[in-house]
Amino acid sequence: KKNLIIFGTRPEAIKMAPLVKEFKKHSSFETKVCVTAQHREMLDQVLDFFEIIPDYDLDLMKANQNLYSLTADIITELKPILEDFKPNYVYVHGDTSTSTIAALAAFYAGAKICHIEAGLRTNNKWSPFPEEMNRQLTGRLADYHFAPTQQSYNNLIVENINAENIIITGNTVIDALMESAEKVQNLKSNEIDYLKSIINKGKKIILVTGHRRENHGQGFVNICEALKDIAYANDEVQIIYPVHLNPNVKKVVHEILSDISNINLIEPLSYPAFVWLMTQSYLIITDSGGVQEEAPSLGKPVLVMRNTTERPEAVASGTVILVGTDKDIIVKETNSLLHDSQRYESMSKLHNPYGDGNASRKIVEFISELEK
Ligand code: UDP
Repeated sequence: KKNLIIFGTRPEAIKMAPLVKEFKKHSSFETKVCVTAQHREMLDQVLDFFEIIPDYDLDLMKANQNLYSLTADIITELKPILEDFKPNYVYVHGDTSTSTIAALAAFYAGAKICHIEAGLRTNNKWSPFPEEMNRQLTGRLADYHFAPTQQSYNNLIVENINAENIIITGNTVIDALMESAEKVQNLKSNEIDYLKSIINKGKKIILVTGHRRENHGQGFVNICEALKDIAYANDEVQIIYPVHLNPNVKKVVHEILSDISNINLIEPLSYPAFVWLMTQSYLIITDSGGVQEEAPSLGKPVLVMRNTTERPEAVASGTVILVGTDKDIIVKETNSLLHDSQRYESMSKLHNPYGDGNASRKIVEFISELEK
């Protein structure tokens, strides 16, 4: 049987890499990889690290990319690939334009559609935009739904998806992390050498990332003001912030946080360097979905700079705290985790609700069973 695994962005590549690897172990499947390259450079770094050579590369990233042209390009470019390879199963991930449009193309081609990281919902079609609509539409198109948690399973049941076609697997991001967290400790990397050279060993490292559209504008101003206060008030802290390249983020961050001695604003990091830095951190402040799923496996508490979340499991289990973009709350919660060691210790020992590193194995087992 033939599998086509399609993805286009950095987080998708990280989360699909374990599935590619797992399927390649099974000779009963011919598995090919297609990248739309909706992100280019950030995607390539991940492909290199996981040693994935795509069979098809649509190379779609453009200077003035917009949702309309991206949608049109993905569907047009996938047609000849689907017609040529004729996959039985097409695998898409999560909530990007690549996921939804590739699922639609696979539907036109008559392939079975497998949705990885299925069932996350905010149930507000405008937030996050366009991700929530992307994931809902992909869910509607999919034949098999690989839900990371019981909660995401429940969300799909509410939408009348047949329970037989929903499989709880955990999130493949943990599979990727388990392999990588070990590998990066001995990896030769200029980026990791650079990080070692700037890290002040005696200090507690706070790692910050942020990119979400809904935080652009006043949200990022508040976040930066909070980080400034934290840095000034806590000499024992070093804030390391790989700043997203989006000008809406970069400009504000550099205006407010340049030239503070215990804040390092650095370029975005490749995945292995980022994983290494997570392992060295005391606390992580982020608005990223993937990072809040990963951090609990490394025992790192996370403050999430969002007001609502499609990942309520982490909040319920206590591995993350939702702080929104309110300056006072960010400062208060950070200070609490810096100074209340009991609270810090108990948070860092919590079980990760997003899985144990076996998600891709479960997905492959399920598909193999269908073919028996
Ligand atoms: N990540 C990375 N370099 C960075 C920041 C994050 O490789 O400088 C990784 C991180 O480990 C996680 C993923 O990228 O696996 C998260 O991606 P992002 O925050 O861009 O997207 P989201 O998870 O919010 O969709």
